Amino acid sequence: MTTTVSTIPEWIEQLAEEFEQATPQEIIAEALHRDPNMTFACSFGAEDMVLLDMLMKVNPEANVFYLDTNVLFEETYDLRDRAVEKYGIPNLRQVLPALTLAEQAAQHGDELWKRDPNACCAIRKVTPLKQVLTEYDGWITGIRREQAPTRANAKVFEWDDKFGLVKVNPLVRWTEGQVWRYIKQNDVPYNPLHDQNYPSIGCLHCTRPVNPGEDPRSGRWAGFAKTECGLHPSAQLRR
Ligand code: SF4
Repeated sequence: MTTTVSTIPEWIEQLAEEFEQATPQEIIAEALHRDPNMTFACSFGAEDMVLLDMLMKVNPEANVFYLDTNVLFEETYDLRDRAVEKYGIPNLRQVLPALTLAEQAAQHGDELWKRDPNACCAIRKVTPLKQVLTEYDGWITGIRREQAPTRANAKVFEWDDKFGLVKVNPLVRWTEGQVWRYIKQNDVPYNPLHDQNYPSIGCLHCTRPVNPGEDPRSGRWAGFAKTECGLHPSAQLRR
């Protein structure tokens, strides 16, 4: 996929329009066909397990990576292992932060996530993501429009201004119900924490269960005016 800045918006917008009503599998197939140097950012959340299942059926050797902040739930690491057992995922990459937890504590103090979660996310998520994405022409993500106001205008294909590559969002039109129907109908492995009122699962220290009726993402960074890691900021979405 050879692109120049001047040609980016036109063809991406055309693709976004053309594939707005397509199935996620069709969108994934088109993305991989257009550019094999595409990668999938897998958080092992419910949406990403759906995409992983679809992606492995389209191309079992597709590139996949996950951001290992070193503070994921044990259940998430266990799910990663079960996914590898089921799908193989030969091109799965573990992406680690430059600083270990001990180095972060030495440089920024203990439990940075309690005092400055933006700084912690920058070190453990955003910077490693930025670095890994420089190796690819596009990335596939599991964001859905109904998840948050910041995601309401996400397109199937869009240009990611923040990281400078194509962003493909095959599940943008899906509802939470569709995600769970697919998981059940296709026997997709998922994180058992979802059955314990954790609709959105991030790091151990920054995720709590939510009460019935609460915003599904209110369990992330509870107590802070923060709803995104910085991986999918609203500013990058074309509106
Ligand atoms: S979610 Fe919490 S622990 Fe994880 S990187 Fe962000 S602030 Fe740090």
